[in-house]
Amino acid sequence: MSIDNPCLTCGACCAYFRVSFFWGECASSGGAVPDSATVQVSPFHVAMLGTEAKPARCVGLMGDVGCGVRCTLYEQRSSTCREFEASWVDGQHNAHCDTARAAHGLPPLMPPLEPQLSPDRVA
Ligand code: SF4
Ligand code: SF4
Repeated sequence: MSIDNPCLTCGACCAYFRVSFFWGECASSGGAVPDSATVQVSPFHVAMLGTEAKPARCVGLMGDVGCGVRCTLYEQRSSTCREFEASWVDGQHNAHCDTARAAHGLPPLMPPLEPQLSPDRVA
């Protein structure tokens, strides 16, 4: 993990969106996400605790958004977290990344990211 990973000085998406996923990803169902870090939001879905209502902030997020953050549940995070990538990783724009950053007063990431970077969200 590069220290230049833009997510390490951001964390906006973890403090903006409802981070929901199928309950089967919870540890009690054979998955990895600790049940205690989730809340049920529909018959088949849970959300990361703290993201079920606005203002959102995932219980797993440590640090100050826009300064320095890390995910305390990184190895146990859901597919929703694993699949959400910073804008311009692999050359792909992620408008949702821009939206979350803007909500916290952060500018959008601009391409190209350094080629050696392989940012994974809030590692
Ligand atoms: S990456 Fe970590 S801090 Fe961010 S929403 Fe997922 S579990 Fe929470
Ligand atoms: S994916 Fe985007 S919004 Fe989320 S932490 Fe990384 S740079 Fe910030």
